Amino acid sequence: MEIKIIHREEDRVHFLVEGMDVAFANAMRRTMLNRLPAMAIDEVLILENTSVMYDEMLAQRLGLIPITTDLDSYNLPEDCDCEGKGCSLCQCTLTLEKEAGDEELVVYSGDLSSQDPKVIPASNEIPIVKLAPNQSIIIEAYARLGTGGENAKFQPVSTVAYKYVPVVSVDASKCDQCGVCVEVCPKNIFVIEGDTISTQNTLDCALCEICVKECESGAITIDSKKDAFLFKVESSGSLPPEDIVVRAAELLKERTRIALDFAGTL
Ligand SMILES: [Zn+2]
Repeated sequence: MEIKIIHREEDRVHFLVEGMDVAFANAMRRTMLNRLPAMAIDEVLILENTSVMYDEMLAQRLGLIPITTDLDSYNLPEDCDCEGKGCSLCQCTLTLEKEAGDEELVVYSGDLSSQDPKVIPASNEIPIVKLAPNQSIIIEAYARLGTGGENAKFQPVSTVAYKYVPVVSVDASKCDQCGVCVEVCPKNIFVIEGDTISTQNTLDCALCEICVKECESGAITIDSKKDAFLFKVESSGSLPPEDIVVRAAELLKERTRIALDFAGTL
């Protein structure tokens, strides 16, 4: 199996994998989405709330804030020695105390203060509630690890998708260089070079096949490789994107090993 990074940013990674079948590609996608744990606020203690927002809405909004995750220091509550009751190895406390003075005040995720500097909101700019003059909130929130299968707020990814690797070919013997494909392709795959049409950046091809429909001479064919996939992974901010891929692969390897051991004993 070969992996090539095509594009990398702080919160996303785009890579090509060759030598993988579709079942395995989908298992990787589902592991990243549903099995890899991430931190989220799961319990909220509202000590004071004189804002117009109901306590339940406040708790729900807090739960949806992506929280940076430290997978090495925290246990999933069900795997923790405290048996899920909540201890410093499976739970992190964040507090929020804000009071509006004479003017309106917007409370942001950055106003949450955490007992662990590694477990903080992934962005400081997520609005939680708007306080009118003299309104106040005092909240204690408990973040823990969970999986996307349990609740979507624990998903470490906002997007994980893959597509087949496109193979775009132009038959020079049929092509009459009319240039229609150059105009219609939304991804600018085709270019006129002298008296021939050539292709560029074919990995960007969205497989829409508009070029095939518009090409009257039938010179263009779009196919795809069956054992190679282009993955796009976009982190919610809880984990770096490459950590998501590596950790998901480890998790899948472990689950496969358990399944093989189990099959071996039957
Ligand atoms: Zn615990």
